[in-house]
Amino acid sequence: MGFYEFYQIFGQIAFFLAVTMLILLSVTLILGKLLLKENKLVFPRLLLFTIDMFYGLFKKFSENVGVNAEIVDQIGVEVRNKVNLNIFKNIKSQDKILVLPHCLRHSDCEAKLESSGLVCKDCNRCVIGVLKKKAENQGFKVFIIPGSTFLKKILDENKFKAVLGVACYQDLNLAMMKLSKFSCQGVPLLKDGCINTKVDPRAVLEKIGEIQRCKKESRINSCNNKTHSPKTL
Ligand code: SF4
Repeated sequence: MGFYEFYQIFGQIAFFLAVTMLILLSVTLILGKLLLKENKLVFPRLLLFTIDMFYGLFKKFSENVGVNAEIVDQIGVEVRNKVNLNIFKNIKSQDKILVLPHCLRHSDCEAKLESSGLVCKDCNRCVIGVLKKKAENQGFKVFIIPGSTFLKKILDENKFKAVLGVACYQDLNLAMMKLSKFSCQGVPLLKDGCINTKVDPRAVLEKIGEIQRCKKESRINSCNNKTHSPKTL
């Protein structure tokens, strides 16, 4: 085979791969939008494959077609939430951990940062104290961490089967990718940043099973009042 033929075949293969990639990214973006807008999950494995294998490329592609690149993380989190939900629910709370970001803490927080993360003093000045208490009552182990280096430490030093995490969409998606062998659930922050971030406490309590527990005990109103009073949250 001469050089000319070789380059011709090489060019054809490259063209074919580029077109296949464009189709894959376009289909994933369309299916992802369908999930986010209409809550319809189609071909979840395909969505996760594209996000996991072509994360950076998919973000660039989204930007190039005029879509905010954050959609890639949103799709990743929502697909995993749906795919893992039933398994997560069926795992005992004692085998689950809750990981909260320390940026949720109150600006006057007096908790100290130690090797396992922030040691909350349960002063209830911020949502961390409330969520920690509810989760621990259910049997969860709770970690309040400033970054992903602490996540590695948690993985090395603890035994668990499922993880519920709270973070901005990007951190959440990357962490859920890393922890894919666990049945992860994620709640995205309503307002992200380095300080004074916000989360929907009800969304976390629902994943913990607290709302369902309250309903079961026919005390939904009193539970809601207790967990969502403006004073505590
Ligand atoms: S509840 Fe915990 S994290 Fe929040 S301000 Fe008090 S000590 Fe800090």
